[in-house]
Amino acid sequence: MTEKNHKKNARKLATTSVLPFAILLLAILAAIFLTVVGMANRTSDMADERTRNLLLSTFSEKVNDVARSLVSTATFDASQIALLGSQKELFARQARLERIRTLSDFDSVGLVRSDGTVTDTVSRLVYGQEQPGARHETAMNWAASQLALSFRSGKATEDGKLVGRYSIEGENLNLVAAVIFMGSQTSADVIGIVGVQSLDRQRLATLGERLSIRSLRFAEGPAGTARNALAVPFNGSGNVVHVTWNSERPGEPILKRLYPIAVFSILAISIFAWLSFTHVTRVTHSMLASEAKAQHMAGHDTLSGLPNRHRFTEQLRGTLSRLERNEKGIAVLFVDLDKFKDVNDTFGHTAGDFVIRECAERMASQLRVTDILARFGGDEFAIIQTDVAGPVDAELLARRLIEAIRPAFMIGDKQAYIGASIGIALAPQDSNDAAELMRLADIAMYRAKNGGRNRACFFEQQMEDTLRVRKVVEDELRLAIQSDQLELYYQPQATADGMRVGGVEALIRWKHPILGFIPPSDFIPIAEERGLIVELGAWVIRRACIEALHWGDLSVACNVSAIQFRQPDFVESVFKVLEETGFPAHRLELELTEGVVVADADQAENSIMDLRSAGIKLALDDFGTGYSSLIYLRRFAFDKIKLDKSFLDSLEDAGESAILVHSVVHLGRALGLTVTAEGVETAEQRRFLQAVGCHLLQGYYFSRPVPKAAFEEILARDEPFKLEKQAA
Ligand code: C2E
Ligand code: CA
Ligand code: CA
Repeated sequence: MTEKNHKKNARKLATTSVLPFAILLLAILAAIFLTVVGMANRTSDMADERTRNLLLSTFSEKVNDVARSLVSTATFDASQIALLGSQKELFARQARLERIRTLSDFDSVGLVRSDGTVTDTVSRLVYGQEQPGARHETAMNWAASQLALSFRSGKATEDGKLVGRYSIEGENLNLVAAVIFMGSQTSADVIGIVGVQSLDRQRLATLGERLSIRSLRFAEGPAGTARNALAVPFNGSGNVVHVTWNSERPGEPILKRLYPIAVFSILAISIFAWLSFTHVTRVTHSMLASEAKAQHMAGHDTLSGLPNRHRFTEQLRGTLSRLERNEKGIAVLFVDLDKFKDVNDTFGHTAGDFVIRECAERMASQLRVTDILARFGGDEFAIIQTDVAGPVDAELLARRLIEAIRPAFMIGDKQAYIGASIGIALAPQDSNDAAELMRLADIAMYRAKNGGRNRACFFEQQMEDTLRVRKVVEDELRLAIQSDQLELYYQPQATADGMRVGGVEALIRWKHPILGFIPPSDFIPIAEERGLIVELGAWVIRRACIEALHWGDLSVACNVSAIQFRQPDFVESVFKVLEETGFPAHRLELELTEGVVVADADQAENSIMDLRSAGIKLALDDFGTGYSSLIYLRRFAFDKIKLDKSFLDSLEDAGESAILVHSVVHLGRALGLTVTAEGVETAEQRRFLQAVGCHLLQGYYFSRPVPKAAFEEILARDEPFKLEKQAA
């Protein structure tokens, strides 16, 4: 995953974790605010509602009030007014009326005549108004006519009647009151009194003050749905007058205080959310990055940057699972560098690291993009080759890889050369299982390495069998030595004429209780590898000395492995065996291979001198298979050379071999060595070898290696080799 992806994912994660909280918090806050605002508004509305109700009742009360005050005042002065009505002095009448007007706080007062007209009107003096009497005419006339009507119809009650009515004059609301003088009080013509109180701007304001309604005033026009307005209906005229006031809105202060809190809260939540967001982003990002790094490191080899074994296995599994849909198969190649250890030892680890990286690059350059290269550590690499149509594809790649590794690696100004051994397993042919394929490729690689390096091997079933034996050998050989599963077989060496037994070679046999017979060629190399050969070799010599003790003067040859021979105490251990078994030194022959002397000539020479001086004979085994330099023969003073079977194998098809064998035998004899030929299987071979001058002949033609008892039987015969007689 890339850095950019981490950032994106971290942001996504932070968003999904912080955002819901922030939104929830804001939602809760919004809900609280809306509730409070709603409650505040409701409170305010309720206040207005109350005001409206108060005004409505106050207005209707007001009419009654005005009327009452007129009634009481009028009633108080009624008789006199009535009298006045019948008298003549207008001034006195008006003074009396003026008294009523001021006492009852009317704006205008007048007397009502029986015909419904108004006379003697007095009005409050308003500054700048010239004709006080002219005011409130309409209202008074209307009230007077109403009064006269009820007077005539006799509906008027005893204590004087009042008629409370509204009317509008200008913008003012006129409250009209009228009262009828009853009975005796009534003069001929005057039947009552009428008064108007104008609810003007000033009075309205005063009323508002008394009712604690702020700025109660007339509205300019209908206020529609405004809450702080009221249309006051007039039951007389059908008109309405509109009043308005300043709403008290008790919720408002709450809201005023609430708004800053809301703004602050939103800001705080936003800042908190933002900080959380960036923090979570940062933390998540670093977590993702370090996790990715750990994952990469867990899946990759740090030196080469290639996938490691774990990742490779995963990828192989993935590739295999997709295989069914694909007609083509895949190949798993295990690459093990040859001689890489030498580079490390000679040039140091830094150089070794360089070579590994360079190898990785060289190999990668041979692959297709779909192929996968991995490093398992050390000098082991593995490849998944995709789209493999057949073994040839894999073989070609393996060859290209080997060629890519072959050129020199420049370490400073020095050159280093390494090689590659490659094991190949194919899917689906060999297996469909990742672990199994890797195991098989490993087996094949092991075989390639043993087969001489710089080569590639395909997995074959037989390799696995070898491997199984190998495992058994590794696990059980030591036990076999101790528990007597091992046995010595003896193969006689005939004199050239085939008449006598001139020597015998002890050959080890392992009869495994389950696997049966395991040939020495299978377990000796493993015993050498595992260091078991020392113990094994010692056992062979001791056993041979014990078993051959009473075989007259016959020499008994024991094979000695190079590793065994190189043990510092090898010579001593042989002497010890001779001493303990009482076996004569001159009858013991040790068969050594060239490997013994090639590795450390000086030490080998010393040991050989010691052995020889004790009378022990030495034979150079498998002569002709290795370097077989005659110089060795002279320097190490062998007693005997054993011509390898391969000489005889080639005798039939090439005349040259015959000449070669001839000259080798000749040379050996010239150096004073006993010459033994191995692997003699036919009479012709026998005749030839006898003819060229071989001293001793060993092979199936005379006898296979046989158990001790069988060999002793051969020894006891007059003519040990029956077949020889027939052939001869
Ligand atoms: P080698 O020392 O060259 O032993 C001779 C091998 O040739 C023996 O195989 C023998 O059975 C076989 N042979 C003999 N005559 C004929 C013949 O006419 N035709 C053919 N085809 N083969 C013939 P073996 O017993 O299987 O031993 C194989 C190798 O194992 C020996 O080769 C030797 O290197 C090693 N070995 C056997 N026993 C011991 C031992 O006790 N110690 C050590 N270090 N190596 C041993
Ligand atoms: Ca031998
Ligand atoms: Ca041999």
